[in-house]
Amino acid sequence: MSQSKNKEPSSIKGTRDILPPESRKWQKAERFLQRIFESYGYKEIRTPVFESTELFEKGTGETSDVVIKEMYTFADKGGRSLTLRPEYTPSIVRSIIENRLYLKPDLMRFYFIGPMFRYDKPQKGRYRQFHQADIEVFGEKDPEVDAEIVEMAYTLLKKLGVKNIKILINSVGCRKCRPEYHKKLKTEAEKQRARLCEDCRRKIDTNPLRIFDCKKDTCRNAALGFPKITDFLCAECQSHFEKFRSLLDFYGLKYSVDPQLVRGLDYYTKTTFEITSSKLGAQDAVLGGGRYDEMMKDFGGPDICGIGFAMGMERLLSVMPDIDEPEKFLYIVHIGEEAKKVSMKLAQYFRENGVECVLEYKDRKLKKQMSRADKLKAAWSLVVGEEEIEKNKYQLKDMRTGDQKEVTKEEALKRMIG
Ligand SMILES: [Zn+2]
Ligand SMILES: [Zn+2]
Repeated sequence: MSQSKNKEPSSIKGTRDILPPESRKWQKAERFLQRIFESYGYKEIRTPVFESTELFEKGTGETSDVVIKEMYTFADKGGRSLTLRPEYTPSIVRSIIENRLYLKPDLMRFYFIGPMFRYDKPQKGRYRQFHQADIEVFGEKDPEVDAEIVEMAYTLLKKLGVKNIKILINSVGCRKCRPEYHKKLKTEAEKQRARLCEDCRRKIDTNPLRIFDCKKDTCRNAALGFPKITDFLCAECQSHFEKFRSLLDFYGLKYSVDPQLVRGLDYYTKTTFEITSSKLGAQDAVLGGGRYDEMMKDFGGPDICGIGFAMGMERLLSVMPDIDEPEKFLYIVHIGEEAKKVSMKLAQYFRENGVECVLEYKDRKLKKQMSRADKLKAAWSLVVGEEEIEKNKYQLKDMRTGDQKEVTKEEALKRMIG
């Protein structure tokens, strides 16, 4: 090993550890999301962290910035080009095709929560390994689904205590109506070429729609004068969009139409949406998504439509209020060898019955152990000594109120979980 003996190990640039008590907030959010997603009929699919590079090039579109700049690509020992997933949708589409999930009678509603990877410039709040919660629906083309997804997203953010939630929606048309818009947009963008940044000038030729994603003020101002995609929708896209909007009204959800909301990835069709919380900067969405009706077919699969969203877990956690849940565990205090053994049995009993239980094996004086229970913020302490063992009764103390009572283990259990 070439690493010098005295050098401390350190994490890789752009990655970080999620430590307690922060990890508890993550667990809470993840469990909550799982419950909500499952209550809408979604099931989890776990795919590998890496896939062939080709899959993501195909999935995100070769003109997309994600592919050009940010993929975590490497060659394995067999010389294959692999990429750590920069987003989830291509993996799930691959999995559905490969496993023929579309031949089963089950709903094709899937979710996943886990790490994604982008070789981005590390900056505050942005990591090369970041986390997303992702949902995808396949084979349901009705605008009711679009509205239900937005309703679910809004509901879960609200239930997690996120404040000032704003919904932005748009329609980016389809392959029938977009070429006409593209042409018009290209002409207009060409007229503004001098005002655009170098990146956006390149986009005029490759994909002018993506100029709307540029964060530079000059480009944003120039884009304000560009034609609106919603003025170019074909009859089918128009009616889908109108129905979608009327259903959001039906759910009582307030939203704004943002014709510049085209989303960063090339595969969207019809509906796109973003949800922001004003606690974040103006351009930071907590989640974003849309429809991708052609994607499965483009991947060589059947002609099945899709829609979904990805939520940034780091962003969600940053707008979620901190959890103020007190610890709920029992700390067992034992005096002497015999008591230690009895405590081990008692801990087994309490744990089996659903009580979190902490037992430290180091021999310490009673007072010292009580102060450990206090320091660790135990909810309860239980004293086990010679006398207690003889009586089969123990001193149970509520560490918050200071109330103390002599009880059997059954009574102790009742008090703690009752
Ligand atoms: Zn259309
Ligand atoms: Zn620009």
